[in-house]
Amino acid sequence: MAQKDTNPYIYSDSNKRYMTYDWYMKTRFGGKVAKVPLDAGFTCPNKDGSRGTGGCIFCLAGSSSSRGRSLAEQYEDGVRTASRKWKPAGFIPYLQANTNTYSDAGTLERIWKEASSMQGALMLDIATRADCLPEYVLSLIAAVSGSIPVTVELGLQSSDDGTAGLINRCHTFAEFTEGYGKLKELADTVNPEYPAEGRFAFMSKRITVCVHIINGLPGEDRETMMKTARDVAALKPDMVKIHLLHVLRGTELERMYLSGGYEPMSSMEYVSVTCDQLEVLPAETCIARITGDAPEGKLVAPLWSRKKTQVTNDIDKELFRRGSWQGKLAR
Ligand code: SF4
Repeated sequence: MAQKDTNPYIYSDSNKRYMTYDWYMKTRFGGKVAKVPLDAGFTCPNKDGSRGTGGCIFCLAGSSSSRGRSLAEQYEDGVRTASRKWKPAGFIPYLQANTNTYSDAGTLERIWKEASSMQGALMLDIATRADCLPEYVLSLIAAVSGSIPVTVELGLQSSDDGTAGLINRCHTFAEFTEGYGKLKELADTVNPEYPAEGRFAFMSKRITVCVHIINGLPGEDRETMMKTARDVAALKPDMVKIHLLHVLRGTELERMYLSGGYEPMSSMEYVSVTCDQLEVLPAETCIARITGDAPEGKLVAPLWSRKKTQVTNDIDKELFRRGSWQGKLAR
C-alpha cells in the first residue's frame, strides 16, 4: 500500500505528514497558486535608524534587481515565469522586500490597492514586522480584507531575546507578541466565526496570519529552537514558515562565517530539529515553508541546502520512520 494511503495526518492528500502550502492553496482555491514576490521600494525600521541600523545580520532584502521597477512589470514577469512551469489557478501578489507596513497611510493604501487589483490575484500577501502594526495600519488591513483575502507575514525568527540581540533584530519577543496579539484580535473580528458546513475553517478567512522562524541562528542549540517552536505553537498562527539560516554574500553573517564565528547547521541536524518542531506545532497550522531558497548566486553556506527536494524528502522519511506527523505532540 502506498504511503499516502496509510498517512495518519488528515490535512494531506500525499505522503506529506505536515500541511503543505500547496495542499492549503489547492484546498482553498481549487488549484495550485503561484506567489509573485514584489519589491514596492519600502525600507525597514531596522535599517533606517528608527529601531536600528544595518538590519538583521542575514538580511539582503531590498537589494534585488526588482528594486525601482514598477509593481506591474514585476508582477507580469512573475506571472509569466510561473505560467511557463504550470497552469496556476491564480496568483498571490507578495509584498516581500523589507517592511511593507512601514509608511504613511496614503502610500500604503495606494500600493496595497495596486497590488491587490493585479489580474488573477486571489489574495494579497504583506510581509512586515510585528512592531510595525500601528492602529492606522490595522484599519487599512481590515479595509483591504473586505475586497480580497489578506495574509500578513510577521518575522519572529527566534523567541530568545539573547539571539534577537545577536542577530540585530531590534525587537524583543514581548514586542512581537504585542503586535501579533493586535493582529490576531483584528483577524478574529473580521474572520467568520464558523466555517460554512463541510469546509475547512481557513477557507473563509479574510485575514490569515503567518509567523516566520529560522533554524540555525548563531548561538542556538536544539533546545532554543524547540522553545521558539513551542512559543509559536502557543500563539496558534494560521501559517508558519520554517527557514534554514543561509549565509548570503555581502551580509554581516558572511563576515562572521568567514572569520570562524558562525557554523551553519548540518542537513541531518536541520531535518531532525524541523521534525521535532513539526510535532509540537498545531496540526491545523499550514507550514508555508519548510526550508528556504537563497537568492540566485548569493549562497555562501550551507551548500547542501541547494538540494531542496532532498531536504523535504528527508523530512518526509524521518516523520515516517518516527511514525509521527505535524501536531502529534501539540498541547
Ligand atoms: S526586519 Fe526584515 S527587512 Fe528588516 S532588516 Fe530584518 S530581515 Fe531585513
